[in-house]
Amino acid sequence: MIRTSQKRKISSYGIYFVILFVILVIFGYYIISSKNSYEPKAPITDTQFALNTVVSVTIYDSTDTSILNGAFELCNKYEKIFSRTLESSELYKLNHSSQLTSEVSADLASLVKTGLEYSKSSKGAFDISIAPVSQLWDFTAEDPVVPVQTKIKAALSHVGYQNFTINGTTLSRESKEEQLDLGAIAKGYIADRIKEYLLNQGVKSAVISLGGNILCVGNKNGEPFNIGIQAPFKEHNKTLASIKVSDKSIVTSGIYERCFTKDGILYHHILNPKTGYPYENDLSSVTIISDKSVNGDALSTTCFVLGLEKGMSYIDSIDDTYAIFVNSEGKIYYSEGLEQEFSMKKNS
Ligand code: AMP
Ligand code: MG
Repeated sequence: MIRTSQKRKISSYGIYFVILFVILVIFGYYIISSKNSYEPKAPITDTQFALNTVVSVTIYDSTDTSILNGAFELCNKYEKIFSRTLESSELYKLNHSSQLTSEVSADLASLVKTGLEYSKSSKGAFDISIAPVSQLWDFTAEDPVVPVQTKIKAALSHVGYQNFTINGTTLSRESKEEQLDLGAIAKGYIADRIKEYLLNQGVKSAVISLGGNILCVGNKNGEPFNIGIQAPFKEHNKTLASIKVSDKSIVTSGIYERCFTKDGILYHHILNPKTGYPYENDLSSVTIISDKSVNGDALSTTCFVLGLEKGMSYIDSIDDTYAIFVNSEGKIYYSEGLEQEFSMKKNS
């Protein structure tokens, strides 16, 4: 028979036991969860040919491959809007329609608006209405040819960003021969949309690469990403410098990307809207480091067409945006503060 005082003793032991058990469970959970947060997960990655280039997405903090699939679905969605060459795309239909005023999708309206702003601020050295000329050139053809001058001259008469206006989602042009080429900015816009999507899926650490144009999501296990700057005309893994970045976009425009040589002359894909021929300005590439990739993409092409001096002072006038210019001899020039901000290391 158990006496009342003994009973009290046993029930107080019980309470101590429950408290101890709860403490142990909390402690155990803390140890397991803290161990997990310090143990990096193996990244998941996928690489596909999309947007006329090699696209890869790597996620460092999730094992859910359906998120990768979603990212590539976005590439396809935007290719069907912005492609100049895909006959079923919204832009292709717009370029080839006989209408002068059209209602366009919100994405197309937004990108055209950005493109027209950069066209204006570069005074037409960058010009998204270059399409009549750019469609005469095929830099990826097996046997590329230099277009005949009479055709280039005729096409040039239809180039001029001032002929386009965008009002909300209403796009107008002055004649049906005028067409748009968003090749200089679309990849940046798409990278920004993919990043937005990854963040909405809870991803905090990832790298998006659209043909070598990089957009970082956060950092990698608490450390900045180490990004190599491509050496012009070298194999894809040859870099001339590296920078440490978190959450930034790194976009390069170069004359080595889409080009061909004929009779000893190199023809590349960044065209002068005044002549219809590739720009000749002693630059091999321009890399822009910025927050938004659409700005980096627009600025890499814009700074290329402005050349070293004008391009560099343009970049120095924009907050939180940096540039690396490489000339034809491989000499590197970089904008104020870049070396310190991103621990830039030049490769010998
Ligand atoms: P990126 O590789 O971003 O520098 O863009 C180059 C692409 O922009 C070309 O392949 C053309 O589609 C387009 N483009 C070429 N010349 C110009 C120019 N002067 N202004 C705007 N876009 C251009
Ligand atoms: Mg660009």
